[in-house]
Amino acid sequence: AVMVAGAVATISEVFSEIQRASGATERLIELSQVPTDIIELAQPQPLIGNTQGALSLSELVFAYPSEPNTEVINQLNVDIKAGERVALVGPSGAGKSTLFELLLRFYQPKSGTISLDGMDIANLSLSQLRQQYALVPQESVIFAASVFENVRYGRIDATAEEVKQACIAAKADEFIIDFPQGYETYLGERGVRLSGGQKQRIAIARAILANRPVLLLDEATSALDAVSEIKVKQALETLMQGRTTLIIAHRLATVINVDRILVLDKGQLVASGTHNQLMQSSELYREFANLQLLSEQPET
Ligand code: ATP
Repeated sequence: AVMVAGAVATISEVFSEIQRASGATERLIELSQVPTDIIELAQPQPLIGNTQGALSLSELVFAYPSEPNTEVINQLNVDIKAGERVALVGPSGAGKSTLFELLLRFYQPKSGTISLDGMDIANLSLSQLRQQYALVPQESVIFAASVFENVRYGRIDATAEEVKQACIAAKADEFIIDFPQGYETYLGERGVRLSGGQKQRIAIARAILANRPVLLLDEATSALDAVSEIKVKQALETLMQGRTTLIIAHRLATVINVDRILVLDKGQLVASGTHNQLMQSSELYREFANLQLLSEQPET
């Protein structure tokens, strides 16, 4: 699974490393500064401002460097329009997280291309490319710092007012102002511990503040209480407004709301469509849907 605020699996290690090394907030790195083995062009194609967030995967093939003969993404062709909401579903190991890693260019495809607004992402600078994305991970990372610092991490030069507005939009302000020190309340092991739903809303506030054209959302699997569930849903709705959104989805309620669902299996696109279409056309999707229905039964 994709793990960290502004970053992915291996990146979680980078984050804990940095936290260990430094202790507080200012040195929180940007996603764009995460080191990788990727080679950048000496003269990358400059991006002027933000992109529209149209994504296109063409004949994409990928194997992890450690297993060069095992293709985990295989001949993938997908076009995602600017502003479209797309859910990725498929069994464990289908390649959903890997796809996020490739979009962020943590790895180089074996063949094929990914383009953003028609530009091959390999021709862009890593920092400009990664500034096009906001990532909301399954497990939101909360740093040992104030609520304010935790949210401002979404855009380090944001003003106090911008942080506050992002928190209001993310339905986080309402619980933050109930804390004894409000936005100055210290979070983390030695401070206030947040509930799962509160952590998610902090992560959403960061992403709202970051204001990127493409949103990569790795939906949490653990169920929230009913109130949190509604608040998180409303917050996500605000966040997704006007952005291209890719969601690694685990819940039926989520997939029912998107424009298009892509069903992946063993690195290949095996079906795509809306929930109703896929219930008719895809055996694998029906399995997913039925499993979700079972796991979403309220506990008695
Ligand atoms: P899940 O729902 O379990 O998160 P997924 O669809 O996101 O699954 P991926 O995590 O993308 O699947 O994994 C696709 C395949 O790549 C799996 O076979 C996995 O074992 C393999 N894989 C993932 N990460 C690495 C890695 N760093 N090195 C080598 N193989 C990997």
